[in-house]
Amino acid sequence: MLEPELNPPGAGAGGLLYLNGRLLRPEEGCIAVEDRGFLFGDGVYEALKILNGRCLWLDEHLERLGESCRAIGLEFPWGEHPLAEILPRLAEESGIQAGLLYLQVTRGVSPRDFDYAPGLEPTVMALIRPLAFPDESTFQRGISLHPWEDFRWARCDIKSLNLLPAVLGKRAAREQGCDEVLWVAADGTVREGGSSNAFAVIGGVLRTHPADNFILNGITRRSLLRLAGELELPHEVRAFTLGELEGAEEAFVASTTRDVMPVNSVGGRPVADGRPGPVSLQLVNRLRDEAALQAGLDSPQPFSRR
Ligand code: PMP
Repeated sequence: MLEPELNPPGAGAGGLLYLNGRLLRPEEGCIAVEDRGFLFGDGVYEALKILNGRCLWLDEHLERLGESCRAIGLEFPWGEHPLAEILPRLAEESGIQAGLLYLQVTRGVSPRDFDYAPGLEPTVMALIRPLAFPDESTFQRGISLHPWEDFRWARCDIKSLNLLPAVLGKRAAREQGCDEVLWVAADGTVREGGSSNAFAVIGGVLRTHPADNFILNGITRRSLLRLAGELELPHEVRAFTLGELEGAEEAFVASTTRDVMPVNSVGGRPVADGRPGPVSLQLVNRLRDEAALQAGLDSPQPFSRR
């Protein structure tokens, strides 16, 4: 359970930490060296958007956390950590207007052994930090992708702490002067970005990879597929190849931190005219409206075609 408020109230504006039932300043948190998350990456996580001191798409994130926990055989102690109550309180208490809530659950602490004894007490941590979300100029500029053969494991549907491929992929992308790595299967199928889902408009139809074991089913991805339906945009959950992406009318990646982010080039080659297309624009505006509504804010100024 959450302990009494941080003193003085509002002291969390630079960040706020929930760790195993306690509310702390981020620098006050300590983890045991034999925590299995530290030793093996034996745990799962979520990343939620904070807007106007509120957690967005909270139910969806908690449901996915539950799925990830089940997938690794970790019994989450919801009674001890009622996250649906704790996280909104943490967001409000932090005083942070725009930020990211990073939530991590590890299997717990025990002497180092790959195998684990069932019933360990999980380590539950939630950290809120300020974060600026993409503004219109970032959206208009878009991002560049660096395609790389996917060498991750075959359970990318689990939001696992094992993120070494993403670390290496993002670095390789940077070294190529790109913003994001794009994981591509050996047969040329585009899977997803390093920390984002990939979408493309091909022959007038918006497409994205199916939510199978080769991608993470992003919360943003799910919202966008629903919004595409509501906007009556032709769309299909069907993977596309790198070749199709290179010839797409428009492309974007989607994630909690990037919203809908147009792709201006892939592997150094421009996608279409390198500017945000009409589908990206409609979707980003609807997504931002939904976010504002959840946050109790007025609709933001829509992004427009330049
Ligand atoms: N794929 C991967 C591999 C990711 O790490 C992320 C970001 N968590 C996403 C997709 C996008 O997911 P979401 O929309 O839930 O942020």
